[in-house]
Amino acid sequence: MVEQSGTTVPAGAVSPLAEAVVDLSAIRHNVALLSGAAAASGAQTMAVVKAEGYGHGAVPVARAALAAGASWLGVCTLDEAMELRAAGITAPLLSWLHLSGQDFAPAVAADVDLSVASPAHLAAVLDGARRAGRPARLHLKIDTGLSRNGVQPREWPDFVDEAAKAVADGLAEVVGVWSHLAHADAPHHPTLDRQAARLNAAWQVARDRGLHPLRHLANSAATLTRPDLHFELVRPGIAVYGLDPLDRPAAESPLRPAMTLRARVVLVKRVPAGEGVSYGHEWTTPAETTLAVVPLGYADGVPRRLNFRGRMRVWLAGKSRPVVGRVCMDQIVVDCGQDDGVREGDVAVLFGSGERGEPTAQDWADELGTIHYEVATGVHGRRVPRTFVNGADEADGGAAW
Ligand SMILES: *Cc1c(COP(=O)(O)O)cnc(C)c1O
Repeated sequence: MVEQSGTTVPAGAVSPLAEAVVDLSAIRHNVALLSGAAAASGAQTMAVVKAEGYGHGAVPVARAALAAGASWLGVCTLDEAMELRAAGITAPLLSWLHLSGQDFAPAVAADVDLSVASPAHLAAVLDGARRAGRPARLHLKIDTGLSRNGVQPREWPDFVDEAAKAVADGLAEVVGVWSHLAHADAPHHPTLDRQAARLNAAWQVARDRGLHPLRHLANSAATLTRPDLHFELVRPGIAVYGLDPLDRPAAESPLRPAMTLRARVVLVKRVPAGEGVSYGHEWTTPAETTLAVVPLGYADGVPRRLNFRGRMRVWLAGKSRPVVGRVCMDQIVVDCGQDDGVREGDVAVLFGSGERGEPTAQDWADELGTIHYEVATGVHGRRVPRTFVNGADEADGGAAW
């Protein structure tokens, strides 16, 4: 049996043209490293599995992370939180981006911790708690300098008063006081210390009201580089997936990238010299050559501008080979030159860990002028099913092709 996109299908019944292979042993390796670092400073680890586990699949990643040393999970939306609960995951789970008009009763009933970042959000969550008939678990968010979500420091004391009143009324428990860093990828940037000091001041206000919340601030980069900012809980995301938040080359990073994006060649053919290839004929065959068609394109998360400079490569039949011409919606064309060893059905690796010589998500990000976060989350699960390998309790699926 092969697990794809969270559902189990009989092996062989579905033969996807393309897939994102997610190595759960890499997830466990990365989480063990992160939670080990956190534990060394007495902190727990929240594995962030928002955005479908950064494109890797939230539920299988969450299970692997919990097996490897994480004790919390973090997501962005209530839908994401409820999906994890529906899958039977009972670990502490924080959700942090909401409308104050949402109905929070189901989330409170499902024991989802809720971030609140304004009096209106707090009131809505308390209303949910009343209707659910149990106290809400709150994480009060302070804006320490990112100026995105969170309560401004000057409004904080009144906000904490409201939360303390809800606790006294039996409507809430204040589990955390938290914030998010603006320059975590620059570990010595002066804003890190300033944000930590503001978090501590906010936490002290809560302590002065008799509350005993956890503090949490560190994302992946700060988990790896700033043990002094671990506080009681860290929230790594990108590093869980093996993408290095400090942009170290694959060979120097202790992390292992978990995702391999690959597809089977659907057609191999000889084309004469002087023929234009793909839309707009941006590339012309310099001599008779062998072309291979690979069924992945910009609708799947292979950005069209990845080959604007003609530098995109794939790993195919034991070699790195150039993609020629424009990336289309569903396809790319690979030049195999005079190599007659490439066959329909062969596997082209678009990106992976880099260990076999294939490009990495970091290589794509460099070419695109973006970050690997965008590359991984850009792989569209609907067209590119995820195949999970090296799970703790399931047979390997699909690894061989
Ligand atoms: C996404 C996110 C994280 C994880 O950040 P990484 O840089 O991926 O480690 C942590 N906290 C919050 C609030 C986030 O939105």
